[in-house]
Amino acid sequence: MANPMVDDAREIKEENPFESMMARFDRAAQLLDLDPDLYAVMRVPNRELKVYIPVRMDSGRMEVFEGYRVQHNFARGPAKGGIRYSPDVTIDEVKALAAWMTWKCAVVNVPFGGAKGGVVCNPHEMSLSELERMTRRFAAELIDFIGPEKDVPAPDMNTNEQTMAWIMDTYSMHARHTVNAVVTGKPVALGGSAGRREATGRGLLFVINEAIKKFKMTPPTTRVVVQGSGNVGGIGAMLLHEAGYKVVAISDISGGIYNPNGIDIPEAMEHLKRTRSFEEFAGVERVSNQDLLELECDVLAPCATENQIGSHNADRIKCKVLAEGANGPTTAAADEILHNKGIFVIPDILANAGGVTVSYFEWVQDRMGYFWKEEVVNERLQDVMVASFNDVSKYAETHGVDTRTAAYMLAIDRVGYDTRMRGIYA
Ligand code: NAD
Repeated sequence: MANPMVDDAREIKEENPFESMMARFDRAAQLLDLDPDLYAVMRVPNRELKVYIPVRMDSGRMEVFEGYRVQHNFARGPAKGGIRYSPDVTIDEVKALAAWMTWKCAVVNVPFGGAKGGVVCNPHEMSLSELERMTRRFAAELIDFIGPEKDVPAPDMNTNEQTMAWIMDTYSMHARHTVNAVVTGKPVALGGSAGRREATGRGLLFVINEAIKKFKMTPPTTRVVVQGSGNVGGIGAMLLHEAGYKVVAISDISGGIYNPNGIDIPEAMEHLKRTRSFEEFAGVERVSNQDLLELECDVLAPCATENQIGSHNADRIKCKVLAEGANGPTTAAADEILHNKGIFVIPDILANAGGVTVSYFEWVQDRMGYFWKEEVVNERLQDVMVASFNDVSKYAETHGVDTRTAAYMLAIDRVGYDTRMRGIYA
């Protein structure tokens, strides 16, 4: 009989993002035979900040929220990473996400380190003015630690262009002049970049284009299943459809729709926008989010949330290519199962790096004070994504490892090299 204590322990460990990140980091570091001094420095963050944020609520009462900013690594440039607002934010999660940012920026070779931040709050129960006061006080608490040359925040879960505009304004008020390069993901009118909103979905399309070539497939013969229909999944599905792919299934949090002959994605997205659900969309079968992952297809793109594919279902995944639009959709325990099934994984730190790549372009444009046309942004994004895909593929072939391990090895190699060249100030 299964021991519930052991099963619980496995589940907690398997689904802990920090454990997932560390399992992959350790494996890659071991294969690289990483110098023990570099290992000791790179496995921990550079700095963890915890701040208490007093906010005058609309009721007149004072509430104090807890906020975090973790700066994982600065070896290759300013730290970069989002800020999330959620009741579930924990320091462990923020630490894992900050490290992921370091590896992601290194995989696409942009000159940033990694960071992440979060505030423990329920943004859905707060008014806009409460959110503004909380954001401004959080930004004021971080003022000595963020900046275009230090650490550049961006939106993440439950934060958006408006949040970034408030942070930029608060920082600028203290600096006594406008500093738009302090954050990315801003409104275009305030120094945001054309193409930033679509960048993660577009980056996903570019790496899928490369991956299917390995299987001698072309877009019209490639059936794609997309989990999630937000910024990454929704925009990704639209762009894949436009590029001629046959998107056979798509979902949101309440479930999915499936048609083996392909779904009219613009119509489905319009329906979702109008009715806030895929229910009642005609000419398709309904499918649950769990069953959707197990559909027969060529490309599976989990673009919703973490821990969707784990030891419980990895052996039932039937795609040829797994393109991880979300962060951490696959647990470390599933890696070997997928590898043994011959599934080609485009790991999250590569597949969804289009967003941070265009954030880098935004930072560059802000510092130049010169803004590029959307076609220029998209073309440069394509160059970066294709080159990074090829770098990871080559690394995997040369070292005889799977693509996820290769992406981690490449990232650790790059960060390690730069750290060694700079020297450790110890
Ligand atoms: P979003 O909020 O715009 O969309 C999320 C989608 O997933 C929605 O359709 C939602 O209904 C669905 N969803 C949420 N929880 C679900 C669940 N438990 N089961 C099934 N579906 C669920 O978010 P997003 O910006 O598209 O981000 C999605 C993922 O991609 C996250 O892991 C995020 O960290 C990652 N990511 C986003 C970006 C970006 O630029 N937006 C960049 C890199 C990585």
